[in-house]
Amino acid sequence: MTATKTTKQGAVIPVLDGEGPWTTEELSEVRGQLVEDIANYEAKFLAAQAELSELLIEGADGAGRDPADVGSSNFERDQEVSLTANARELWEQSELALKLFDEGLYGVCEVCGRPIGKARLQVFPRATMCVSCKQRTERRA
Ligand SMILES: [Zn+2]
Repeated sequence: MTATKTTKQGAVIPVLDGEGPWTTEELSEVRGQLVEDIANYEAKFLAAQAELSELLIEGADGAGRDPADVGSSNFERDQEVSLTANARELWEQSELALKLFDEGLYGVCEVCGRPIGKARLQVFPRATMCVSCKQRTERRA
């Protein structure tokens, strides 16, 4: 077994017109970023989840409190809920991207099948959609 820094069986990750082919270093940087992101987002998710369950426990025995306090703790709880969901989504996206990478399927838009592009993946290693498909889904949302 040699160190598997690149994708399986030398799979070629596509690039956009005008972009140079991926180098081994670039690939290992992107993969390293994904591994790092997964650890980060997982930690964030677990922290936010712990924070959230604390808030829920506090909320459960908050009977007879000032309505203003209840309002602000509801707000805090909503914030925490969206933080938790957000961290989880980023975590899952990064996991998926790493899986695709290791399967040699990385860098192809999951919607239109065209290359996502090297420049975009270097900024967002977890991207699984090209810019135009991403924009289309965001507009619909
Ligand atoms: Zn696309």
